[in-house]
Parts: sequence; structure tokens; C-alpha cells
Amino acid sequence: MNVNPMKKKIIILGATGSIGQSTLEIIKHFKNDFEVVGVSTHQNQSKMTEISKYFEPKNIIFTDPNLEKKINKFEFNKCSKLFFGSNSFSDFLNIDYDLLINGISGFAGLLPTFIAIKNGKDIAIANKESIVSGGNLLIEQAKIYGSRLIPVDSEHNALSQILRNYHFDDIEKVTITASGGPFRKDNFEMLRLRKYSDALNHPTWEMGPKNTIDSATLMNKGLEVIEASVLFSLPSNKIDVIVHPESIVHGMVTLIDGGIISYMSQPDMKIPIFNALNFPKISKHFIKQKSISTLNFYNLNEEIFPSIRIARTALEKGFIATNYFNASNEVAVKSFLDEKINFTDIFSIVEKVTNLSSRGNPNSIEDVFKYDKLAREFSENEVSKIT
Ligand code: NDP
Ligand code: MG
Repeated sequence: MNVNPMKKKIIILGATGSIGQSTLEIIKHFKNDFEVVGVSTHQNQSKMTEISKYFEPKNIIFTDPNLEKKINKFEFNKCSKLFFGSNSFSDFLNIDYDLLINGISGFAGLLPTFIAIKNGKDIAIANKESIVSGGNLLIEQAKIYGSRLIPVDSEHNALSQILRNYHFDDIEKVTITASGGPFRKDNFEMLRLRKYSDALNHPTWEMGPKNTIDSATLMNKGLEVIEASVLFSLPSNKIDVIVHPESIVHGMVTLIDGGIISYMSQPDMKIPIFNALNFPKISKHFIKQKSISTLNFYNLNEEIFPSIRIARTALEKGFIATNYFNASNEVAVKSFLDEKINFTDIFSIVEKVTNLSSRGNPNSIEDVFKYDKLAREFSENEVSKIT
């Protein structure tokens, strides 16, 4: 294998998912700039075999521990070392790398985020659930260990690109856009009866199953309000959300002098991922620019979609409550996908469980895991009352 020492060494967590696959597609185009040294999947053996053969990563982790006895190790590149179960993350991450891309879906992304922070590594973070659950601790630890968190979520990547040119005191507020999802025009009764197959028809973005439901409930935008608060140290009342169905404007920053700076791009995650891969440099992309025509903006219907209101309540209580918000949403989404509850039950479960949280912030990573477990128990209990 011919290795260029100048290449950025990349680890991709969730390499078999939507964010992971887009990252690998970019790296295929820019083979001279990046080298994939580590990849994770939960249990997708066939995609991982392909990735292993093409990219020849040093380390591969299957986070599902049951796979150790089931997979055929000879199908993987001989250079690759295999790890199993999330308990092996510390060993898996114990190699030389420059940037970790976290494209795991859900709370499962938190542990490797914390390990990479403690190793002082730069993290391009798509996994918003770890930001929402980890809250203040993530930022405090990143500062202590000198780890940089580079947002990949399109709205936050946009905001970070604008905000780095201004002082904190210059900022009046930030605005993140929401496509409004596939059910933007529904009334409550239509929304109640929605199924997973309806949610797959997202007008602008293609995503994994959990993120697809989160976009349809607007819980995704609730998570993103919390994500913006954590990443940019802003209170809830300085973070606005506006519906923008074209998803061209991703973020806007209103300055105290009345100016508004916006960041626009086509709705393609390969743009923020590429930006994060090259951070802090701006490089030439392979994506063809399309012309922009009409841009529309609407207010959110919070009567029908209460997600952002619940997220703000959580944020005002503290990061224990944001942890509850995330955990209850994960349980509710899984129960909806398993056809145990209706679409709109997701709202009531998340609201009830978020209200059960105490005020304040977690003091340690152990706290974060403890509160997540507790919130999942409360949520399962709420699901069992419905089914
Ligand atoms: P996908 O469902 O497409 O992919 C998820 C990845 O995580 C897969 O590689 C999956 O492995 C792995 N995974 C699933 N469960 C676990 C687990 N328990 N432990 C470890 N790994 C696991 O998700 P997306 O790529 O859509 O989203 C990933 C993250 O990025 C989410 O946090 C999402 O909110 C965020 N994001 C996504 C955007 C998008 O457009 N997709 C946009 C902005 C943010 P396997 O294949 O084996 O199941
Ligand atoms: Mg987003």
C-alpha cells in the first residue's frame, strides 16, 4: 500500500450509514488528500466488506458484540484489525488519526465522542444526539483536552462558518431553517395517522430511518435548537427557527447593527461534510453548482408540531432535561417504527418524559449514561400505557 504521509488520516464512525457513505464518496474523489484509517458499523457486514476491500482501513469495529462469532473474518482486508462491541471503542480509537467523523445515529455515538475528546482529537460531528445528551460536559471537556468540535449538521456548519468571523457580543440572534418535513401542511388528524412509508418522501434531504422520522416530527429541529445552544453557547431565546421548504439557506446570523448574514448551498450533505473534512481550509468541491431561484420562508405551526417548544422547555431546565428529551425521542421513534404507537404519540411521550426531568446539568459522563437509562425506562413505561 502506497501511503502519502501528508494525507489527513480519517476515522469514520457510522461508515455504513447515510453520512458515512457520503463521506466515503468524497474521499474516493480526493484519494490524494485523505486516508481512511478506521471505520465503524453496527452490524452491516456486506457494506463493511466492500469498504474494507476498497479503503483498506487499519481498524474496523462492529459495535454489535454478537457479530464476533458470526462473521467470516477472511472476507476482510488482511491489513484490517477487527474489533467488536462498543466496549472496544477505546482500543479501536488507539491509532494515529487526524479527524474523527461521527456519523453514528443516536445516543450510541456519545461514548466514542467522549473518548476522542479525551484523546484531544478533532471531531467532525454529525451525531447531534451526543451533543444534546452530553450538553455542557462535551464543551467543557473539549476545552480541557484541546479537542475541536466541527459541526457537520448543515445548519450548524453554516452558522459556524458565519460566526467565526464575528465576536460573541456582535450577535443579536441566530436562525436555523427547517424544511418543514413531508407533513408540513397536515392537520393534527392527518398527522396522527402517518406511517413510516409516508415520512420517507422527504422533499429535500435523504437520511437514515431515525433522522427521517425526526425530520417529519420536527424533533430534528428541536434537537438542533439544543445542538446550537451547546455548540455556540447561546440561550434558547437567541436561537430562532424558520420554515424554508427549499433548504437552500441553512443558517442566518443577525448582528446587533441590524445586518443579517446568511449561508446558502444546495441541500446536499456532501457540502458540509466536505467543509468539515477540510476544516479550517476551503477547498474546491466536485459538486456542480445549481442556480438558485425562489426562496420562501414561513413561520412554524407550533400548535400542530410542538417539538421545538418541548426542546426549549428542556433547554431552560438544563442538560439533564435535554438528555431526557433525546432519550425519550429515541424510544418513541423506535416504538413508532415498530408500529406500537401513532405518529403523534411521539410528541406526548417526549413531553411527559422531559417534564419528569430534574433541573440542572450532569456532572460526569457517568451521570449522562445514568440519566439516559432512567429516561428510557420512563419512556418505555409511557409506551406501555399506549400499547
Ligand atoms: P443512518 O441510519 O443512515 O446511519 C447510522 C450509522 O450508525 C450506521 O452506520 C449504523 O450501522 C450505525 N449505528 C446504528 N446503530 C448503532 C449503534 N447502536 N451503535 C453504533 N453504531 C450504530 O443515519 P444517518 O447517517 O442519517 O445519521 C447519522 C447521524 O448524523 C445522526 O445523528 C443524524 O441526526 C446526523 N445527521 C444526519 C443527516 C443526514 O442527512 N443523514 C444530516 C445531519 C445530521 P449499521 O449500518 O450497521 O446499522
Ligand atoms: Mg440539520
